[in-house]
Amino acid sequence: MKPFPRAEISRYALQSNLAQLRLIAPNSKIMAVVKANGYGHGLLNVAECVGLLNYVESVCKYHGGADGFGLARLEEALQLREGGVKGKLLLLEGFFRQSDLPTLVSHNIDTVVHHESQLQMLETIALDKPVTVWIKIDTGMHRIGFSLEQFDSIYQRLLACPQVAKPIHLMTHFACADEPDNPLTQTQMNAFEQQVSGLEGDRTLANSAGTLFWPTSQADWVRPGIALYGVSPVVGDRGVNHRLIPAMELVSNLIAVREHKAGDSVGYGASWTAKKDTRLGVVAIGYGDGYPRNAPEGTPVWINGRRVPIVGRVSMDMLTVDLGADAQDNVGDSVQLWGKALAVEEVAEHIGTIAYELVTKLTPRVVVELLD
Ligand SMILES: *Cc1c(COP(=O)(O)O)cnc(C)c1O
Repeated sequence: MKPFPRAEISRYALQSNLAQLRLIAPNSKIMAVVKANGYGHGLLNVAECVGLLNYVESVCKYHGGADGFGLARLEEALQLREGGVKGKLLLLEGFFRQSDLPTLVSHNIDTVVHHESQLQMLETIALDKPVTVWIKIDTGMHRIGFSLEQFDSIYQRLLACPQVAKPIHLMTHFACADEPDNPLTQTQMNAFEQQVSGLEGDRTLANSAGTLFWPTSQADWVRPGIALYGVSPVVGDRGVNHRLIPAMELVSNLIAVREHKAGDSVGYGASWTAKKDTRLGVVAIGYGDGYPRNAPEGTPVWINGRRVPIVGRVSMDMLTVDLGADAQDNVGDSVQLWGKALAVEEVAEHIGTIAYELVTKLTPRVVVELLD
């Protein structure tokens, strides 16, 4: 018997999604965003599927691998290098300590510079080689990045800094690209263009939502994260609408099937009571695995070809579902919490969160298994 719960990761889906993103952004290089353990899919799993561990720039495009990887932490980038990834790596929030800079140089890792403190660290260190820098411009997200007013002076300081490789690359990030009617995205694109026009260096603006919904934002590099995993960034939308395939199936097993009488409650707090006689299934997954405790009654799970609702509270190691009075399900049957049959977007809508959070929050107890 296979261990459960497990997250089955589909190599085919990841590769197909990358190919589909190439069709969607045919003139851009792809920086596959693999932060947070490859959005819970396993950093090296994703790298192996879309990154060609023995990356050679000239053959990469032919094989269809990603052109680079975006990460949030230096440790993640080092794991990729240790795993044999040779391609471009970019720290999307840059480095946090001056002592990280020699590591960036020795491991050939690019960094975002979004704050003057990072510039000071670059100006006051001696390095064997200059670092490749992407300057982050705040065009309207107002989280990190240099304001339009600061940009020119910061850019000049970077140009003058011997520790910074030339050309300097150019980057911004969208606040509302997942809202196809929101005018802020075009405003951000215009502000970016105005700021960088005439400058050397590669340009990148688009996350998944930009890539899918704002094709004029694709520029030299797109930075898809969630779309690579087959999931739509837009509430109410589904990855399949963009010919993307869910790369993760979260599965577990039924460990009990019980006759349940009308009027009987189930679980902690006795929060749900059966209106009629039924059969309840107990699934071996809970918040200790990262399945949210706040999943309300009625959140679907997929068993033997149908949706059945969660009833009662999700506990640490188990949850209970109403299989129905005539259910034929048995102990040992497989249960899909999300995946191809039951979109993680749909589950997220029930729980009142986004698919990003569900896939990244699985705990180490969930076995992550890479399948073809
Ligand atoms: C996480 C991240 C992305 C990817 O976002 P998705 O919505 O998952 O496509 C792109 N760019 C930056 C700077 C990020 O932090």
